[in-house]
Amino acid sequence: MERILFATSEATPLVKTGGLADVSGSLPPAIAARGHDIRLCLPAYADLLAGLETPAVPVEGVALDEPDTRLLETRLPGSDIPVYLVDHPGFSRRPGNPYMGPDGQPWADNAERFAGLCRSVATLADRGIGDWRPDLLHCNDWQTGLAPALLHDRPGRPGMVFTIHNLAYQGIFDRATFEALGLPESLWHWQALEFFGQLSFIKGGLVHADRITTVSPTYAREIQTPEFGWGLDGLLRSRAGELHGILNGIDTDTWDPARDPHLPAHFQRDDLAGKAANKRALQAQIGLPQADDIPLFGFIGRLVEQKGVDLILEALDALDDQPLQLAVLGSGEARFEHALRERAQRRPGRVAVRIGYDEALAHRIEAGADAFLMPSRFEPCGLNQLYSLRYGTPPVAHAVGGLNDTVVDATPANLAAGTANGFTFDAPRAGALAEAMRRAIATREDADAWRALQRAGMGQDFSWSRSAEQYLALYADLKTR
Ligand code: ADP
Repeated sequence: MERILFATSEATPLVKTGGLADVSGSLPPAIAARGHDIRLCLPAYADLLAGLETPAVPVEGVALDEPDTRLLETRLPGSDIPVYLVDHPGFSRRPGNPYMGPDGQPWADNAERFAGLCRSVATLADRGIGDWRPDLLHCNDWQTGLAPALLHDRPGRPGMVFTIHNLAYQGIFDRATFEALGLPESLWHWQALEFFGQLSFIKGGLVHADRITTVSPTYAREIQTPEFGWGLDGLLRSRAGELHGILNGIDTDTWDPARDPHLPAHFQRDDLAGKAANKRALQAQIGLPQADDIPLFGFIGRLVEQKGVDLILEALDALDDQPLQLAVLGSGEARFEHALRERAQRRPGRVAVRIGYDEALAHRIEAGADAFLMPSRFEPCGLNQLYSLRYGTPPVAHAVGGLNDTVVDATPANLAAGTANGFTFDAPRAGALAEAMRRAIATREDADAWRALQRAGMGQDFSWSRSAEQYLALYADLKTR
């Protein structure tokens, strides 16, 4: 049995802004179900504390060496998994988004807040909690990146894994911040935390962890190239032997079209009849004409450059001759929110947009849309295409990162082989997206071919079983390092 401390800045259902939360909320239970003792460590955000069903209690006898900081303990809801919460004033006295203020800008003291988290994680991994000492520390994304750097030279330390969920977010701050944080001067080095004259949190993990993982095999290769490496491709190439791509799973209980409580009608692979009712209900809910025959495309996601919302808007222009509908749910940068709202106003009946975060509507779009758009410029794994595959909603996706590993294009050969489950295109350009959407619309005219696509996607196993086994193999390998 392994003892694992899993450090992360978000985990479903406690706190979520994106895919990291889904992974942190479902990988640890899959590891625990295989007989291991895995425990989470997160920041004690004010909103998280306020939403707990059973209040968190202070852990006695643990000193964190941080001013005004103590350790609280709760459980991951629906499980026995302990969750340690770092109660630092930068987290617990501030409601709202974990990373940014109401103005959409990062909190000004993010370096200090997450350095506090990292120092606490390093202390817990080193000294243990009571008589519990982890064999392994698993850190995730830049918010936990300093922990491996602080820990790497301590004798008898646990093995360390660092997972990249999105290399675009690195935690970059200036030299003055490095000094203000009081980090050891030995870490100011290009082979440590220094990155072109600045402080990089993520480098702490990339340089000092014993193993690096990322969330799909294709992304693991891509980030070793200048095009996707954000300046870190050289470092990642130098660690290629210790870098593994492990595809994310999904929570198949939460995302199950046969039982999903958010859906007006249920359906499954062998009985898709209920899907039409979901389409009609979705059209009614978001104010689109209730037409069965008009193809309805869905999109859900953070409205940022990465996700290719601009490509969708441009592709719609190119498809003006086609009857189609588009349902969008997302929030993010003002320029994308504005452009989407403007389009929905100009083309009511064709485009419906909901700005905001809405878990229930996300489930209804996955179930009610005919096809799901993911024109991401890059995509480490992507979860929405996995949900859409499971909900009989073939994805139309840029063949990049995890999309490349999960969406199989409806070429004649793949259709004949029964492996096709969606539509892919090779370049992040509106014309290529429009062409793929045209192919989806045409394929949908052929009910048998469409059902074959749906059934192929719905028959795939995206549960955590396989990925959890891969992480466990990595953990086992590390213990004997
Ligand atoms: P990323 O982590 O880059 O945001 P992923 O596809 O890996 O993208 O995961 C995004 C997760 O967040 C999915 O579970 C998706 O359904 C959810 N999500 C994103 N935006 C919204 C929204 N506006 N409302 C509800 N769920 C959302």
